[in-house]
Amino acid sequence: MTYFRLNIEKMAAYVPGEQPAAGERVIKLNTNENPYPPSPAALKVLHDLNGDLLRRYPNPLAEKFRRGVARVLGFETDWILVGNGSDELLTMIMRGMAEPGRRVVYPMPTYVLYRTLAQIQAAETVEAPYDEDYNLPVDALAAAGGAVTLVATPNSPSGTLAPTAQLSALAGRLRGVLVIDEAYVDFAEDNALELVRKHGNVIVLRTLSKGYSLAGLRLGFAVARPELIAGLSKVKDSYNVDAVACAVGAAAFEDQAHMAANADKVKASRAKLAGELEKLGFEVWPSQSNFMLVRPPARQAERIYLDLKAGGILVRYFKEPRLDDKLRISVGTDEQNAALLKALKNRIKG
Ligand code: PMP
Repeated sequence: MTYFRLNIEKMAAYVPGEQPAAGERVIKLNTNENPYPPSPAALKVLHDLNGDLLRRYPNPLAEKFRRGVARVLGFETDWILVGNGSDELLTMIMRGMAEPGRRVVYPMPTYVLYRTLAQIQAAETVEAPYDEDYNLPVDALAAAGGAVTLVATPNSPSGTLAPTAQLSALAGRLRGVLVIDEAYVDFAEDNALELVRKHGNVIVLRTLSKGYSLAGLRLGFAVARPELIAGLSKVKDSYNVDAVACAVGAAAFEDQAHMAANADKVKASRAKLAGELEKLGFEVWPSQSNFMLVRPPARQAERIYLDLKAGGILVRYFKEPRLDDKLRISVGTDEQNAALLKALKNRIKG
């Protein structure tokens, strides 16, 4: 006997990365947060907020933020839909498009939430394996016949970027939608946003959680043709984005210069950290993101993860096929990265 639908009863819950309690002194390199603070202009909006903004319901489409995004990216407003993080946009897409008989397709390994959301809809999933270099398995993805096909690019946990030409070819071969999840795009050298104009079935997802240092605010958006945006709007919660997120996010997105400067710092640190890890004998996948996938020497990933944790440094370990000999490490400040390297050097010597 269960109170739940059968597929919910059977499925495993999505497990987010550990979040230490406020005030706990850890070096947190496990959930790909930006190590630098958000835009001062956004923080000023937060400090100056008027209580009246909270007394009333927020704008259902987060218009202020939405208009700002449209202007900065060069789209009409009706090409943009705002969500409570890009996670919520993924939920809307699945809620609107996936069900038994309508498949959800994605390459593996990737963001585990795709599977979870498909399971909630009781939709069949097809997981097309990436090769060791994380080349996009275009043929397998196209052949799987997804109502929803998802590609994270840069991908998590690999940090690797899918070439826009391959994504375009894939979109052209699909009958369903192609969701291009660009959560980490602010740290990459390219993006696939132009594909929403070229293909009627492409949805690009972006977030303020990474590049804009606002993971706690919960704000993301989708860019797609107005017909797709209108359809997705039907399945969203009425007031899905709160008034604070809309106001603060609008100011943060305006401040492109702050985001770009922080992204540049992260990219410089990423190159340094990758070089140092390679010197220690780690294999490092080429990252266009604010984290990197690494394989420690002697395949001691779980042991190293636990040792680092005991020493107050959190990195991500996935006890899953293909990933259980690797670690995913977020790029921190230079100081945090140096502490990580010191801990690893001691461990590897010891
Ligand atoms: N997509 C990918 C690939 C991610 O790694 C994440 C962060 N966990 C998200 C989407 C969701 O980001 P958010 O909901 O914070 O916008």
